[in-house]
Amino acid sequence: MDARWLHTYTRIRNNARNGLAVVPIERDACGGCFSKIPPQRQIDIKMHKKIIACEYCGRILVDDAIKEKAADK
Ligand SMILES: [Zn+2]
Repeated sequence: MDARWLHTYTRIRNNARNGLAVVPIERDACGGCFSKIPPQRQIDIKMHKKIIACEYCGRILVDDAIKEKAADK
């Protein structure tokens, strides 16, 4: 677990309250607009390499595992 990523994620969540949407990946698709997410992008998201935004709706994509991790804090 990359602590820096968690920090970034927490910051995004705080931004979400100001209108920036963060959505989970649901069944290989964006949780916001349900567009399919290419496998390579899903890997990037799961590896927490960088912040990935949905190319269709612009929402920031996160995987559910990290969501739970951040909620623990
Ligand atoms: Zn989307």
